[in-house]
Amino acid sequence: MALFEIGNRQSKTVTHPSSFVRRPRRLRTTPALRAMVRETELNARDFIYPLFVRHGQGRSEIRSMPGIYQLSVEEAVHDAEAAAMLGVSAVILFGIPAQKDPIGLENFAENGIVQQAIRAIKKEIPEMVVVTDVCLCEYTDHGHCGILNTGEHFQPSLPEGYVLNDPTLEVLNKVAISHAEAGADIVAPSGMIDGMVGTIRGTLDRAGYNNLPILSYAVKYASSFYGPFREAAEGAPRFGDRKSHQMDPANVREALREAALDVEEGADMLMVKPALAYLDVIHVVKDAFPELPMAAYNVSGEYAMVKAAAANGWIDEAKVTLETLTAMKRAGADLILTYHALDAAKWLAG
Ligand SMILES: [Zn+2]
Repeated sequence: MALFEIGNRQSKTVTHPSSFVRRPRRLRTTPALRAMVRETELNARDFIYPLFVRHGQGRSEIRSMPGIYQLSVEEAVHDAEAAAMLGVSAVILFGIPAQKDPIGLENFAENGIVQQAIRAIKKEIPEMVVVTDVCLCEYTDHGHCGILNTGEHFQPSLPEGYVLNDPTLEVLNKVAISHAEAGADIVAPSGMIDGMVGTIRGTLDRAGYNNLPILSYAVKYASSFYGPFREAAEGAPRFGDRKSHQMDPANVREALREAALDVEEGADMLMVKPALAYLDVIHVVKDAFPELPMAAYNVSGEYAMVKAAAANGWIDEAKVTLETLTAMKRAGADLILTYHALDAAKWLAG
């Protein structure tokens, strides 16, 4: 009997549809109509293009990130110019030092590789917004994001090799000041060290850089999507992992706590990293702090997956990339750090 009723209702639908069928398809009939009602639109201005800078000449492609290179300062300027030509108005710099040591001395050296690149890019393209990553992992010989609990710093109450919080803040202060002196437009502390935003804010203010914004990697997960980046920046930890400072991928309420602390400490912009597997996190953080610009980091592993599938002819690279970036913006990101920036800007321009 029940089946008969369902069948009967269906046949009624076919016979007298117009009185009760609601028709969202009306607004999808033509390209012009679809464009009129489009809620999210990507723009080249939304992108921040990451550049890996190293000593020496020329460029070398990163095996796991086709189309992305380790660059000399000169080549970094060249790629920043290419970005500017395509309407991408910001780059973020990562440095590969000549030498690594337990503290990462080149990280705050006046003539460090990132400091050189900042000056060179600002000289050639003054309008380019130069963001700098402020962390220790690319510069330390152990590959960790801070000073380790060992040797002279050893604190018996903490595990051997633990990333010490407050001694690390002192190094981050030096790095931020050094980037400011070289001419950075935005500093972006990325180590998930407690108090990093407030400490850097205070230090910058006292040094007269009270107008220099901080983009905080407020919500950064201990993700497996960072693999190719570690090859690119030569910053893989020599032992252990980053789970004692980066967040557990299973947590989202904790993201609100991290973001709230950074807002309180004076962050001007917030970031969620990675992006694609964390669209829900982008959404809740944006909902909680709509007054701050939000960035999402479309990380190396996300990029590598798209490039690998595209190279095999399994997906349409341009369409999948633009769909993915649109999803990040739809979720709440105002800005997207992405290795696809130059290609995406070209595709958007048609
Ligand atoms: Zn780090």
